[in-house]
Amino acid sequence: DHLAELDANLVTCRACPRLVAWREEAGRVRRRAFADQEYWARPVPDFGPPDAALAVVGLAPAAHGGNRTGRAFTGDPSGDVLYAALHSLGLANQPTARHRGDGLALRGVRITMPVHCAPPENRPTPAERDTCRPWLARELELLRPTLRAAVVLGGFGWQALLPVLAAAGWRLPRPRPPFGHGARVRLADPAGGPELHLLGCYHPSRRNVSTGRVTPQMVADVLRAGAAAAGL
Ligand code: SF4
Repeated sequence: DHLAELDANLVTCRACPRLVAWREEAGRVRRRAFADQEYWARPVPDFGPPDAALAVVGLAPAAHGGNRTGRAFTGDPSGDVLYAALHSLGLANQPTARHRGDGLALRGVRITMPVHCAPPENRPTPAERDTCRPWLARELELLRPTLRAAVVLGGFGWQALLPVLAAAGWRLPRPRPPFGHGARVRLADPAGGPELHLLGCYHPSRRNVSTGRVTPQMVADVLRAGAAAAGL
């Protein structure tokens, strides 16, 4: 399983000094509620079956979420929204994601992200995005045979993903389609294979949800459209 091999290599990566320091610092200075937990404090691998038809592209792990639990969107408010939505669509076997051993399994969906280590303020730098790009590129290359659609959570993921797709040979419209909630783009495969559907969705971050910029229903609606485009 090439994706398992990719994950095994990813978790040893130390290419971004600022993020290595931050992910480890969070594991030392734990949030009080998690004081008795051993933090993962390493790059967070992608999650889901290796033959997924739908990719969900996030931003980066949360310092006390994925960086604590070692699984994407697990143990943080964004994940509560994401996995509840996937469960409501029959794409996850349970609505919650608490820790790595909680039995959560996805159907047809793989969660990935352009930056695999927790950044301060949830804001990676462009240099960190570029340093992590080969991991995202390789992930998508390995998913390519089955991948039909991607739901991109937020503008950062959108900006990160388009150059990866362009480098992989997909022909992007010019000018490049802007990110927006509900944005939809269909990319033709230059090799004549099935097209790839991109869908934009506001990131279900705690801030976006608490300000009402995005609601759980809005996230579920885009995921439903993505799942339909992916044939799930
Ligand atoms: Fe490595 Fe990506 Fe983490 Fe940077 S963000 S240290 S490239 S895994």
